[in-house]
Amino acid sequence: MFTEEQIQEIENAPLAEALKLATAAFPAETVFSTSLGQEDQVLTEVIAAHKLPVRIFTLDTGRLFYEHYDLLEKTNARYKINIDVYFPEAPDVEAYVKAKGVNGFYESVENRKECCFIRKVKPLNRALKGAKVWITGLRSEQSENRKDMKMIEWDEDRGLYKFNPLIHWTYDEMLRYIEQKNIPYNPLHDKGFVSIGCAPCTRAIEPGEDPRAGRWWWEASHKECGLHVHQ
Ligand code: SF4
Repeated sequence: MFTEEQIQEIENAPLAEALKLATAAFPAETVFSTSLGQEDQVLTEVIAAHKLPVRIFTLDTGRLFYEHYDLLEKTNARYKINIDVYFPEAPDVEAYVKAKGVNGFYESVENRKECCFIRKVKPLNRALKGAKVWITGLRSEQSENRKDMKMIEWDEDRGLYKFNPLIHWTYDEMLRYIEQKNIPYNPLHDKGFVSIGCAPCTRAIEPGEDPRAGRWWWEASHKECGLHVHQ
């Protein structure tokens, strides 16, 4: 368990120090899930630069943008790391496609959530097995659902700590850090894609639109895929 003192120390420390403190508390049980989004690229840079004992993994839903795969290769090469890739279970995907169609997620919120569950949530749960600390790149200003999240919180459903070191970072702070450190990022970000997920479920947004407006844009709400909501 983190003590209250440890939590306070981590919350008040600069980014690299906070990550060092958290991983030192759970050296072999800290994992980081990267979507290769800009926030996650910042965290990968810090983890790699300080050679922190963190297992980095990503989820390949099978429906990602071509640019995503390019960035994965580039990131591995740049930081001399080998990000673990978790895929959905083939029988789950095959059954879904047979029953709902290959793009069945456009037809209803239920279909969409089921697709996200098969392609994201189940592989995530597999990747998190045995972990005690789950590092994420969540920022509170990204969405209504993330507004009240803390830097360190206990995830009752999964039985681990969720550690969100960038929770208080602004979008501009993050961009400045990326520029200063020359961190590789998805070129789609320069074409209006702020939050990037699967290709059929992500579109570019207009200036002034909500950062997550480009995700599942055909739905009135529900801008989360289930990874960061209680199950
Ligand atoms: S984002 Fe779209 S394609 Fe990707 S898992 Fe969810 S519904 Fe399926």
